[in-house]
Amino acid sequence: MIHEIIPVGPLRCNCSVIGDETTREGMVIDPGDEVEDVLALVRKHNLQIKQIVVTHAHIDHVGGAMQLRAATGAPIFLNQNDHSLLNMLDTQAAWIGVPTPGKVEVDISPGQDDAVKAGSLTGRVLHTPGHTEGSICLYFQTEKKLIAGDTLFAGSIGRTDLPGGSYKKILSSLHEKLLSLPDETIVVPGHGVLTTIGRERETNPFLTKS
Ligand SMILES: [Zn+2]
Repeated sequence: MIHEIIPVGPLRCNCSVIGDETTREGMVIDPGDEVEDVLALVRKHNLQIKQIVVTHAHIDHVGGAMQLRAATGAPIFLNQNDHSLLNMLDTQAAWIGVPTPGKVEVDISPGQDDAVKAGSLTGRVLHTPGHTEGSICLYFQTEKKLIAGDTLFAGSIGRTDLPGGSYKKILSSLHEKLLSLPDETIVVPGHGVLTTIGRERETNPFLTKS
C-alpha cells in the first residue's frame, strides 16, 4: 500500500494519498487545501485517482475537493448526514479566515459498511456521528489502518461544540465502532500525529473514564 500523509491548510488537516502498488489506482482522503501539493504526490507515485473521500464536511477537510475532482475526474464521497453542513461553507470559511471554496458537489453518499475501493485496496466505511452527524472513518482491514477524520486523535477526541456535534454520539461511535477494532490498528487522525487503537484504548482520557 502506498500511503502518503500531507498536512494541508492553516489547520493542518491530514490529507491521505493512498494507492495500490500494482495497479497504481488510488484514492485521496480529506483534500482540505493545497491541492497542487496533493497532486504532486499523486504524480510522484504515478497514481490514477479513483475516489475522493471526505470524512466530514468541515472546510479544512473538504475545501479542495472540487479542485481535486476537476483535476482527476474522481467522484466525491461524503455521507448524506453532512450535506447540510456543506451549505455552511461560507460561514465555516469566515470562522477560520480562509477564502470560501465555493459550492461542493457530492457524487456518492457512503454509509455504514460500504466499501470504497482502489485497485486491491478496500476501505470499509464506519459511520461515526458525533463530531458531525455525517462523520465517517475508513477502515483498511488488510493493512490494519484506520483513517479517523476528526473522530479520534492521539490522546483526544473530536470537538462536539460545533453545529451537528454531540458528545453522547461521539462517545458511542468511539466505543461501538472504533474500540472494537484490533489493538494494532494504526490510526491516522484528521490532525496531528498517528497512534494506534490499543494505545488510545489504554491512555486516551476520553476513553478510559467510565
Ligand atoms: Zn472537523
